[in-house]
Amino acid sequence: MRNNIVAGNWKMHKDLKETKELIEGIKKGLNNSEKGTSRVIVATSFVSLTTAVDAIKESIIEVAAQNIHQENAGAFTGEVAASMVKSSGVGVVILGHSERRTYFGESNALLSKKVKQALANDLEVIFCFGELLEHRKENKHFSIVEEQLKEGLFNLSAQDFGNIVLAYEPVWAIGTGETATPEQAQEMHAFIRNVLAKKYGEEVANTISILYGGSVKPNNAKEIFSKPDVDGGLIGGASLQAEDFVAIANSF
Ligand code: PEP
Repeated sequence: MRNNIVAGNWKMHKDLKETKELIEGIKKGLNNSEKGTSRVIVATSFVSLTTAVDAIKESIIEVAAQNIHQENAGAFTGEVAASMVKSSGVGVVILGHSERRTYFGESNALLSKKVKQALANDLEVIFCFGELLEHRKENKHFSIVEEQLKEGLFNLSAQDFGNIVLAYEPVWAIGTGETATPEQAQEMHAFIRNVLAKKYGEEVANTISILYGGSVKPNNAKEIFSKPDVDGGLIGGASLQAEDFVAIANSF
């Protein structure tokens, strides 16, 4: 069976003190609740990773990075290697977020290299992808998503694919307050699982967690997560408040 996952993408928010405080708040909230997701992940800035790793001790929370460089070492001033992330006690990295694609020009081809580097360093990957509003208006959203998957991931073996979590994030819903309807999310997630099944077979397709991302909040998470092919969420804005994030994690 696949895992239910709620992952918070803190983006460029929270200094060291705030990192500790937010994790303490999430821990407290999760401890006081009876249910919840099987996995809860927080993706902090590089600077906060070791502080976060320390703060999550004795909890179910895991820490993720938000990026890595495609090479494992070298003269790349200002960059961070997968091996460095791994050595800080982190086991997960987010790759392909739309902000990285848009503001830093990350292409499917580059992301494919980053994914390989992450896996070579024993990092699990949360791979983000999703269409722009104009794609959806032109009814190209399925073909765009299929292309992102094929070009970013489909050179992996079925075994390597076991270390991938997918995060479908329609770009028009990220940070906009506009959410895909639960039906739109389910329709796309079922499509994605079908694309996976064609490439890797039903068994692999049925074990891969597919998260939805895009303005998930405590008041809409339950309905979105209730859809059969939605296995949780990647949460931006609402992951910055412990109370909201815990409420979302408890929405299954
Ligand atoms: C995100 O940045 O991945 C995201 C889903 O953001 P938000 O929840 O704020 O839309």
